[in-house]
Amino acid sequence: MVEKVIQLRCECNQYPWGKQGSKSISATLCSKTPGTNFKIDENTPYAEMWMGTYPELPSYVLETGENLQDVIDEHSHDLIGRNVIQKFGHKNLPFLPKVLSIAKALPLQLHPNKALSAKLHEKNPNQFTDPNHKPEIALALGDFEAFCGFKPLEDIKRILELAPLQAFLPDIKKPDFDDQSLKHVVRTMLLASADAVKKTTDALLELPKEQFGKDTYIPDLIPRLAKQYDQTDNGILVALITMNYLQLKAGDSIYIPADGIHAYLSGDIIECMARSNNVLNTGFCPRADRDSIDMFTSCLTFSPHNVEESMLRPKQSDKAKSGKTQLYAPPMSEFNMLATELKDGEDETISAVDGPSIMICTKGEGTMKADGKEHKLSEGYIFFIGRGVEVQYNSTKGLQMYTAYVE
Ligand SMILES: [Zn+2]
Repeated sequence: MVEKVIQLRCECNQYPWGKQGSKSISATLCSKTPGTNFKIDENTPYAEMWMGTYPELPSYVLETGENLQDVIDEHSHDLIGRNVIQKFGHKNLPFLPKVLSIAKALPLQLHPNKALSAKLHEKNPNQFTDPNHKPEIALALGDFEAFCGFKPLEDIKRILELAPLQAFLPDIKKPDFDDQSLKHVVRTMLLASADAVKKTTDALLELPKEQFGKDTYIPDLIPRLAKQYDQTDNGILVALITMNYLQLKAGDSIYIPADGIHAYLSGDIIECMARSNNVLNTGFCPRADRDSIDMFTSCLTFSPHNVEESMLRPKQSDKAKSGKTQLYAPPMSEFNMLATELKDGEDETISAVDGPSIMICTKGEGTMKADGKEHKLSEGYIFFIGRGVEVQYNSTKGLQMYTAYVE
């Protein structure tokens, strides 16, 4: 019989947009996992800790050092379970949770749909390392800023009336400004020369602030984004003029569908996605690193199209017996996320899931009883939990846990 509750050791990548040294929650959580020799270097940015079996940054069994993938391969029926294997047609984890620590804007991006991902993977497996789609959720651990989806058409149309932006409008004016007109605007902004972007942003900065109506954040953010990348970066125009700018608080969450445009700007988040790493980038990155603008604009989806549509509102989880757990259920099948918050002395029981889970403790101290054993819980403790295991949490000091699961 395989142990169904497996404590993990996870690793962090060092993308340049990550937070520096111990300012990065992803790095501090990694360093607090017991028994690792990971030491934070204060001069290195730490961006993402991955928890799962994606080969680029896999997780390991803390006790034995085995790759979690090898354990799952050997015991997939016990750990993943028949239900999930049948549902997805493979014997692997269908999701990938991460902790992200963001100091500056991530590339302006979208994750292509399944059909395009399969095509791209076949043509260029080095860049597109799997044939899957990658819808994702981002759950704020504290203040979190993000650009997500498009503003309502009437808002975009109003901003485009500002003199410096008229050049991006379609030549032939249709009676209505619709999603096709918006696609033209996004494409024209992405194709604009470095010089044109600089001139446009300079001209926007010279306008009186009142001209931006409720969107006065636009002139405020131009210098900030220009400092992070360059004032010639096309992402500045697309993000500020066409996309929703969200300022979220701890516990808020957004959902990004396949083909959905997004760029995270700052904060620490728990992210979870379908098992994929496919991405098309067009801005907030060097020009040489950008993918085809035509491909990017041709697969854009126009959902979400306002702030509320971007939000993923939690509800009480019916798996949680003490009612101290919120469920974030995106409109897709690869995973749900649970957020459990317990004050000193409180407890919670999560009933057995008919599929695999990955849980990370992000705050506090306590214990977890599962599969006949008691495990210590503390910041940076991460567990894989196989199918069919009821989990009982006891908090001695303000516990916070996030659990991605599928069934
Ligand atoms: Zn993304």
